[in-house]
Order: sequence, then structure tokens, then C-alpha cells
Amino acid sequence: MPLYRKLEALKLARSNYKGKALGVVPTMGALHLGHLSLIAKAKRESEAVWVTIFVNPTQFEKKDDLDKYPESLTADVASVHEIGADINIFAPTATDMYPEGLAAKKQTLDGLDTLMEGADRSGHFDGVITIIAKLFEILQPHLAYFGEKDFQQLQVIKKWAKDQHILTKIIPCPVVREANGLAMSSRNAQLSPKDRKEAGFIYEAMLQCKNKSLDKPAIYTIIKKTFSAHPNFDLLYVLCAEEDSLKEVHDLVSANKPRLFISVSVTGVRLIDNVALK
Ligand code: AMP
Repeated sequence: MPLYRKLEALKLARSNYKGKALGVVPTMGALHLGHLSLIAKAKRESEAVWVTIFVNPTQFEKKDDLDKYPESLTADVASVHEIGADINIFAPTATDMYPEGLAAKKQTLDGLDTLMEGADRSGHFDGVITIIAKLFEILQPHLAYFGEKDFQQLQVIKKWAKDQHILTKIIPCPVVREANGLAMSSRNAQLSPKDRKEAGFIYEAMLQCKNKSLDKPAIYTIIKKTFSAHPNFDLLYVLCAEEDSLKEVHDLVSANKPRLFISVSVTGVRLIDNVALK
């Protein structure tokens, strides 16, 4: 399977795919079944697929978070190979991606980037858009696949793509979960086996909210009460927000596509999840 580490080799290879419907799946590696579901979907829907693997330094605001981020390129290549021997992988170096130095370009995202994850992680979405813009520029994909697991990221990318008249179609993909309901994430490997098992309560509580009521205060109470029984898990925020604007909804009954968003810290590992409430 073609693995490209150098930008020049990648550009040459890309030129062989002129006229083909090309799908791209941007990732930071340490691939799990969530990533693989995006890659399989891209394979079904595109004539050629590129998976990018790059732990993007400019979207990490804390150096120790970046340093701790898992990497497993050999295993990742094998996992992608199982889906298709013809899938291309681009795993560049930071120097190739940021020849001008590690800096994110400031974006105008109408506040979508400053709430929830953006409130706690200043500049995070500037870093995300900076790397996606670079990857799109290099690969010129027709389709790009992003997981609803990172729902805010998906909305930020959609907004940027629309505002910048990007021709690539952004395709949302459903959240893939572990057997206990925990949303799959490369960060889950940093949890102790006990915390990882216990973490199933997060999705259970979210489902309870989805099934029980469209009453925002009741939902916040259920979530806070559930977390108080799991003292290892810090609830960073819980928010019922409208899907497109990501603004907090007042009345869930009349709200347009409301979702429940949660962010959690467990022994310094940050987890996020969301479910549609209607
Ligand atoms: P990451 O490597 O964490 O940057 O993720 C790369 C892509 O995979 C992003 O579009 C994520 O939203 C998506 N992704 C990560 N985990 C999951 C999951 N559990 N289910 C669906 N998509 C996911």
C-alpha cells in the first residue's frame, strides 16, 4: 500500500489521480474502529482514497497533551491495508506541513470556535482549520470525511468550507462506540482499564436524557447527579445546544435539532461525546 512521508512524493502521486473522485480522511493516527468506519465509507463512495495521519501540533494548547498523544504508524498502515490495499496514506513531517514555523492562522468562525471545546482550548480550532486547509490545498479532494464524535469540529469545518467557497464536500459520519457505549477515541488508550470500563456511564446517562424528557433543567440535573456518583470523572461542561449554531437552546421542545454535548476529564484525559435529543 502506498505510504507517503514526503510532500514532494505525495504531490507527484496525487497528479496520477486527475479526474478521479478523490475522498480524504484526515486523522491524527492511533487508528481505531471509529477512524476505520470513515475510511470504509470513503472507500465505498470515492474512486480513490487518501488517509492522512498527522498529529497536528498547532491544535494542542498544552505541550504535555501533545507529547502524550499516542502514535502507532506501523499498526495504522496495517489497519488501513485491511480495508483496501489501494488506499493511500500520507503521514507527513511537521517541517513539511509547517515550513514557515509552527503557527496557526487566525480564523473568523462566528463564535463557533470559542464555545464548548474552544472555550477551554484557546486557538484549538484555528489549528484544526490551518491543517485542514493545508491538506485540502495539497490533495484537492472532492469528498472529505469527518466524525460526528467531534461534532463541534465538524460544524466549524463546514462553516469554514462554506465561507471560503471550498469545493470539497464535507461528509459527516456517525459516532462509533466501544461495547460499553464509550465513544471510541485514540485518547481512550490513556485511561486505566478500570476508568475505561466505568466510562460507559457517560453514554448511558446521555441516553437516559434523550429518552426521558425534552426538559433542559431535568437533563442538566440527571447529568450532574450521575457524575456525582463517579468522583474520578470531572464534568467540564454539559450543554444542550442547537446543532448548526451550537448555541445553548432555551426550550428543547421548540428547538431546531438540539443535541446534548458533554466534555469530561478523567485523570487528565479529555473525553467528549454528544447525542441528538430529537
Ligand atoms: P482524530 O484522529 O481524533 O483527529 O480523528 C480523525 C477523524 O476521525 C475525525 O473526523 C474524528 O471525528 C473521527 N473519529 C474519531 N473517533 C471517532 C468515533 N468514535 N466515531 C466516528 N468518528 C470518529
